[in-house]
Amino acid sequence: MVKYFNAFISFDMEGVGCLTSWQELKKESPSLAQIRELATEEVNAAIRGIKNARQDIGEIIVCDSHAGGENLLIDMLETGIHLVKGTPRSYYMVEGIDQQFDILFFIGYHAMIGTKGAGMDHSYSSSSIYNIKLNGKYVGETEINAAVAGHYKVPLALVSGDDKLAKEVRKFFGQEIEVIITKYGISRFAAKCRHPHDIQQEIEKKAELAVKKVKKLNPFIFRPPINAEIEVINTVIGDVIEPVPGLKRVSARKVTFQTKNIIEFYRLLRVICNLAYTVK
Ligand SMILES: [Zn+2]
Repeated sequence: MVKYFNAFISFDMEGVGCLTSWQELKKESPSLAQIRELATEEVNAAIRGIKNARQDIGEIIVCDSHAGGENLLIDMLETGIHLVKGTPRSYYMVEGIDQQFDILFFIGYHAMIGTKGAGMDHSYSSSSIYNIKLNGKYVGETEINAAVAGHYKVPLALVSGDDKLAKEVRKFFGQEIEVIITKYGISRFAAKCRHPHDIQQEIEKKAELAVKKVKKLNPFIFRPPINAEIEVINTVIGDVIEPVPGLKRVSARKVTFQTKNIIEFYRLLRVICNLAYTVK
């Protein structure tokens, strides 16, 4: 049986080059249509890079993972892909990832919560999560999602987002991963933005490079069991998540728990975020 090359692209919005605040994503915002188009074009650049690198492409999944997962414009996406959209999803930002995939890209990602000068820094929920630690290390969406893919032996090969995320990625994953800086963070809601065409060209080039060197990359793995510590933003969130089986409330805003692997952790993280939204 011929084994095709399958790619998984997880997309978030905050790291898209032209975006500097959540205000711009409100339904009534005059910038929303343009941001959605430019976001779609960043994903397209990644798809073209993958296709440029190889002839034997099987599946390319694009997972729209910002808010309710309804940001990308499907009719403007490059053809031959599948788009995962909508909510709820148990595996949200990496819904559908498994051992069939050969490579993982993160487009439009952002730094973890608490990063100075990073655009819209947060970790899974800006309204409920203050920070997350796994096996003693602070982590954000990039690290958690890379670890979920790593569970299926899929290596993270490319990340795009602001310069603060780039720094985080280098620190956590080393030099091997292709990184595209889409903008330079000034504050949480201000940045020096690159021209969209410059960003798209660089994503396309680096996506091709990433596919060509993927064999050299190792999947990212958190050694099981996973010891998790989640600090939430206020005490009422602590109150609603306290009854979740397996969680130990160690202080008003902090819970700890152990899971046998990252998949189990991810499912519990989804439960915690969803419960937190009920008291927002
Ligand atoms: Zn987002």
